[in-house]
Amino acid sequence: MKLDVNALRYLSKDDFRVLTAVEMGMRNHEIVPAELIARIASLKHGGTYKVLKNLLKHKLVHHDSSKYDGFRLTYLGYDFLAIKTLVNRGVFVAVGRQIGVGKESDIFEVATEDGTVLAMKLHRLGRTSFRAVKSKRDYLRHRSSFNWLYLSRLAALKEFAFMKALDEHRFPVPHAVDCNRHCVVMSLIQGYPLEQVKELQNPDTVFETILGLVVRLAEHGLIHCDFNEFNIMIDDDEKVTMIDFPQMVSVSHENAKMYFDRDVECIFKFFRKRYNLSFHENEVEYDDLEVDSDEGCRPQFSDIKKVTGFLDKDLEASGFTRKDQNDMEKFVDRDVEKDPGSDCEETEDGGDTVDETDDRSIKLFESLSLARKEGDSMLEGNIEDTRNIAHQDSSKEHSKSGDEVEHAGDESEEEEQEQVENDELVKRLGKQRKRAIQAARGRRNVLTSRNTYKDKGGRSSHSSKISKQLNTW
Ligand code: ADP
Ligand code: MG
Repeated sequence: MKLDVNALRYLSKDDFRVLTAVEMGMRNHEIVPAELIARIASLKHGGTYKVLKNLLKHKLVHHDSSKYDGFRLTYLGYDFLAIKTLVNRGVFVAVGRQIGVGKESDIFEVATEDGTVLAMKLHRLGRTSFRAVKSKRDYLRHRSSFNWLYLSRLAALKEFAFMKALDEHRFPVPHAVDCNRHCVVMSLIQGYPLEQVKELQNPDTVFETILGLVVRLAEHGLIHCDFNEFNIMIDDDEKVTMIDFPQMVSVSHENAKMYFDRDVECIFKFFRKRYNLSFHENEVEYDDLEVDSDEGCRPQFSDIKKVTGFLDKDLEASGFTRKDQNDMEKFVDRDVEKDPGSDCEETEDGGDTVDETDDRSIKLFESLSLARKEGDSMLEGNIEDTRNIAHQDSSKEHSKSGDEVEHAGDESEEEEQEQVENDELVKRLGKQRKRAIQAARGRRNVLTSRNTYKDKGGRSSHSSKISKQLNTW
């Protein structure tokens, strides 16, 4: 997906306020009525409609009048909110070229103030596993249409938490820098996905290292579940780094053995085909029975001394809770994403590197120079915290799974207070939503609602409470 960050520089404080209001409205609305957006944003002189038009022009929101008239965030809109928050936090100052297109993500280079280049992964759940998400629609019911937003945020949070924990346990993974919404910022790996490497100096050593990683992961209680040549990076010295963690499971998962064997099988198959490695003296004779021929030298799941829960504490510390994990398990069907019977060489991971040139020149970067403005707290605060997206009714359970992952804990009291206020606000918004829907059903067109808003908006005690609330975020 094209990510033109240019527009970011021209978006005003009001643009972001309204964009954030749409995001907030999506916590409990598939499509957010314009009237509700106006109320949440509570711009001083009305004006939300004009701003919405601008956001539409930049494709940051989508207008939908299929069920009732309203707006929803696009992926681009969600990208902008995350990028702006991370820029405000000082994580990076510029966005560069796209370096990867994953199965369910886009990866870009970003540059920090001192010129360090990092990798930014924008999760796009639903891109290829739409079927999987769709198959869970019964479960999601009314939330189904905006689950991509919620799921992408969960995937990012999970990836960030696992990367951090694995890094701390000295696994060769990128260094996790920060995470916001569906976006993870990590160190840039110098090298290529193994899939692009036609020849290795020491294929045996690389093979053993990679297989050793699968075993060590299991010893730490984890299975990668997508351990293939697209998710293994290798540099010129043939140093291996593993990436892509949103689908990892615990060794106590009911299908753990199958996932483990599948990861192992992928590696054997790839090394056999690509680097002609043989694992069994009689392999030729057993060609048709390839899968069983190297049984003797394969690590067996049952032989591994596994310590479950080893990383649990680290994961929770990063903000990824067991509930988040359960949600992902429920919503994303791992087996639809990857057919266990398929040849791993043909996996649809598709980790194409978009641009293979290795020009790391900073000139390629679009500097964002987004001055921190008044009202940005709205982005950093609860609205940025999309934990409540799609989860109005379970918001209490989510109180500790916020996006402010690094600060989870220190600010728990403040967060609790915010959560209580948040719940109150959500209730109020629920009432307003009913009114807005009634208005829409009563065939009041946008103009009517707009006038209604003009007449009453901002002045009622109700509305001023919301605006007071927003100011405190
Ligand atoms: P997906 O989950 O969509 O498969 P990945 O995390 O596997 O996404 O990333 C897709 C591709 O982006 C990788 O194959 C790799 O080429 C590139 N990539 C991802 N992370 C990094 C990184 N930290 N440094 C350099 N390239 C990366
Ligand atoms: Mg991948």
